[in-house]
Amino acid sequence: MDFLTQYMEKEFHIHKKTQQFCANIEKEITPLFHEIDRNTEYNQAKVLRAMQKNRVSDIHFAATTGYGYNDMGRDTLEQVYADVFGAEAGLVRPQLISGTHALTVALFGNLRPGDELLSPVGKPYDTLEGVIGIRDTVGSLKEYNITYRQVDLLEDGSIDYENIKKAITSKTKMVTIQRSKGYEWRPTLSVKEIGTLIQFIKSIKPDVICMVDNCYGEFVDVIEPTEVGADLAVGSLIKNPGGGLAPIGGYIVGREQYVENSAYRLTAPGLGKEVGATLGLTQSFFQGLFLAPQVVSGSIKGAIFAAKIFESLGFEVMPHSMEKRHDIIQAIQMQNSENVIAFCQGIQKGAPVDSFVKPEPWDMPGYDCPVIMAAGSFIQGSSIELSADAPIKPPYTVFLQGGLSWHHAKMGIMIALQNMINEGRIHLKK
Ligand SMILES: *Cc1c(COP(=O)(O)O)cnc(C)c1O
Repeated sequence: MDFLTQYMEKEFHIHKKTQQFCANIEKEITPLFHEIDRNTEYNQAKVLRAMQKNRVSDIHFAATTGYGYNDMGRDTLEQVYADVFGAEAGLVRPQLISGTHALTVALFGNLRPGDELLSPVGKPYDTLEGVIGIRDTVGSLKEYNITYRQVDLLEDGSIDYENIKKAITSKTKMVTIQRSKGYEWRPTLSVKEIGTLIQFIKSIKPDVICMVDNCYGEFVDVIEPTEVGADLAVGSLIKNPGGGLAPIGGYIVGREQYVENSAYRLTAPGLGKEVGATLGLTQSFFQGLFLAPQVVSGSIKGAIFAAKIFESLGFEVMPHSMEKRHDIIQAIQMQNSENVIAFCQGIQKGAPVDSFVKPEPWDMPGYDCPVIMAAGSFIQGSSIELSADAPIKPPYTVFLQGGLSWHHAKMGIMIALQNMINEGRIHLKK
């Protein structure tokens, strides 16, 4: 028994048999790591070059306060983001408090009363239902007389081009395309597929603003939606592009006019991007972006590792271990609530923060069933850190994502597996 196996057994109580099982799993997935590493290296080069071209310097890390006029660090960071995403402009701010907020700002900044918003890829992310007014809320787009239309994906998860064509009218001003599966059991769209979809939409109505909800997708591929025709791409800094270091924030990149419109909504008409102090956060935004390709790579490897383990044990997983990935999320159908709870409690046990806490399902506002969340993260709610959550209802799907490093993702998943074994939920064959 080598020093690592011994340590993992002694300190984390991972049985030798479990470790052997996981070692075999790792052997099977290792061939996939070559392509992931190549992509990571490319994205690392892309980020490095953008920082060099924009002459990022010490002075850009200085804090600004008050109105934040002439914040050179902020303006440079926004140009670096624009360059990395192949976009004209960027809005990258700590005042964008989440992914939902960034998407809200992009929508409200670019839509006007009488316009229609179209989702050609089915139901958007849960929180957006309230923003759009699919679920009645105060202050929704619907209250401003902005209507919404949706075309669902076909049964097999593919895009329903025929009905999208029918859904585009003279009112259609903006299209929102969610790249990631989010917390749905559906395939994630590749950037290439998104490009084809945008081309199709623009062939019908060239002036439609195509926005991509890019959450969980950044740096998984070597191109981003803004490089294949998206007018806007939007995401959260406590997911992929923050690299685990950004303590808050969101980004909007894309065509200058549409980014500007978003800025007028974030701050005020007439003020836009000119204001917004960064309070000393810029350095962690730069450094987080610099580390992001590596962090995303660790998350993807962890997701594949989990997929292979649970696939081997007979569970339904999405995507499969050998499938090409387009986001960092791994969905696993756990078959019953006891499995879900044992897995999530195990993930929590493997966390660097709050490892001694035992998460339980609870009735979270906005959900129609109890939800369990494992999140022992440095940044509250950060899902680029190893985390898992699940609504407690059939088919008992757990959504696993993140991992600041491949080695921690692997450890966390092994601890979760051992926890399921200890609770009698899983039996490894001899
Ligand atoms: C996380 C996420 C959001 C919302 O982001 P928050 O930061 O949680 O508000 C929107 N869309 C998708 C696909 C997401 O994964």
